[in-house]
Amino acid sequence: MNQSDPIMTLSSVSKSYGKIDALKDINFEIKAGEFVGLLGPNGAGKSTMFQIISGLFAPNEGTVTIFGRHYSDDSSAILSRLGVVFQDRSADLDLTIKANLAFHGRLFGLSGQRLQERILEQTQRFDMGEMINRRVRQLSGGQQRKVEIARALMNHPSLLIMDEATAGLDSLSRAALVQDIHNLAKVDGVSILWATHLVDEVAQADRVILLQSGGIVADTTPEGMCAMANTDDLTAAYATLVKSGAPKQPQA
Ligand code: ADP
Ligand code: MG
Repeated sequence: MNQSDPIMTLSSVSKSYGKIDALKDINFEIKAGEFVGLLGPNGAGKSTMFQIISGLFAPNEGTVTIFGRHYSDDSSAILSRLGVVFQDRSADLDLTIKANLAFHGRLFGLSGQRLQERILEQTQRFDMGEMINRRVRQLSGGQQRKVEIARALMNHPSLLIMDEATAGLDSLSRAALVQDIHNLAKVDGVSILWATHLVDEVAQADRVILLQSGGIVADTTPEGMCAMANTDDLTAAYATLVKSGAPKQPQA
């Protein structure tokens, strides 16, 4: 894999559940250090895409290439460099922060001093270094989310995918979390796929992929999305494009 190769490519990916076409002919790629917003209303197919990208199930058609590999040939080579934050809460509430992170770190072969250092590194990133012995149940919703993100970073992933990561957070915590993840892309060069139905969370994204009814309506910058809808307001652009099911590329 060359440095300029995409970190992840989805080619002609389709997935149906019985008669429901959850994803239809999806094509896009993510480059190193890019923050890509995956924006779409409920039912658009965001979580289905995450399940395919995280290897939980294969698409009916099409190819997913991550770090130049496919799940069918070498899933551990992909999973060892992938971080996933699922839509539903998944930290163990009865365990401490440290125990949650330690368990996950051991899955990636970390132990001893290296494991302890990694736990501190990731908790300090989110100002939680002082509280690692607290049970997750005692934390606020925002802190619980940060534990899940810290956990997803334990293996130093090159690609971090986050599905509605701010669900249940107040607006200040939401904005702070979005900023933390932008820093991760800028400072650490991690590629991010950030799924949300909240337009403000993708306003600073390098690219926005607008998904509706299983299809990509737009794959452009936030400014490009505004241009497509003839407005300078991203929220208005989203409303217009989701209603109209606009074409794939901005009009010249
Ligand atoms: P989003 O995350 O954008 O809300 P989903 O990927 O959850 O979208 O859902 C896309 C479509 O697939 C919806 O119509 C949803 O009802 C359907 N769907 C999702 N998961 C299942 C499933 N396990 N069985 C049947 N239909 C599903
Ligand atoms: Mg979802």
